Amino acid sequence: MKDFPKNLKEKLKGGARETFFPLKYTCELCKRETFGTLFCPDCEREIVKNDGISCPVCGRRVFGAGVCSECKNLRPLFERAFSPLVYERGSAALVLKFKNGGAYLAEYLSSLIVQKLEGQQFDLIVPVPASKKALKRRGYDQTALLAKELSKKLNIPYIAAVESVKDTAEQKTLTRRGRAENLIGAFRVVKKKEIKGKRALILDDVMTTGATLDEMARILINAGAASVKAATIASVELEKAATIPH
Ligand SMILES: [Zn+2]
Ligand SMILES: [Zn+2]
Repeated sequence: MKDFPKNLKEKLKGGARETFFPLKYTCELCKRETFGTLFCPDCEREIVKNDGISCPVCGRRVFGAGVCSECKNLRPLFERAFSPLVYERGSAALVLKFKNGGAYLAEYLSSLIVQKLEGQQFDLIVPVPASKKALKRRGYDQTALLAKELSKKLNIPYIAAVESVKDTAEQKTLTRRGRAENLIGAFRVVKKKEIKGKRALILDDVMTTGATLDEMARILINAGAASVKAATIASVELEKAATIPH
């Protein structure tokens, strides 16, 4: 190594990434070839952005302006929630990929959240903890990875201030009331001192009914948080369900 020309060494160091790990030129969703972009044009159209009219409280896409029926009915405990994507089609596929092996997507997905949070003020990021079961199944905590990236980009600390206490039943199968009940005692604040008097931003991957974010907000407020907002990669459009005749 002693006689290794310095410039070549530098070159190898700088160029190693490109030489040995070429930029991905396949679409994240369909694996088709792309020209240096994450998605092919077809899949790009399937990434549903939440940039139309949204509820000023929960941040979900709505069809009529103003506070959505759910938030009117029962005001969430968090002040506001933000989500850059609507959980459907390509957006849902992307989140699922992030949760099942696509840990590297934290970089891209956190950048979407950063854009959505523009102008918001908070002191720390508190990720929703993964249940032990989910952690075992996936091998990583996707929300913690997202929190880490977001923290880096915003230069705001993230604190694993909340711990998962019990493994809750699969939320998908429960009604809204069932979900809220299912979550009682699911989390515990383990870093009260760090929370007290601070403006917290709860971070999760997807907002479905908002029950998880609400329970997180409840315990953070109880722990003395000055205010609580929330952010997720995507949120399920609520008004859509309301329009389905039943
Ligand atoms: Zn594609
Ligand atoms: Zn709402």
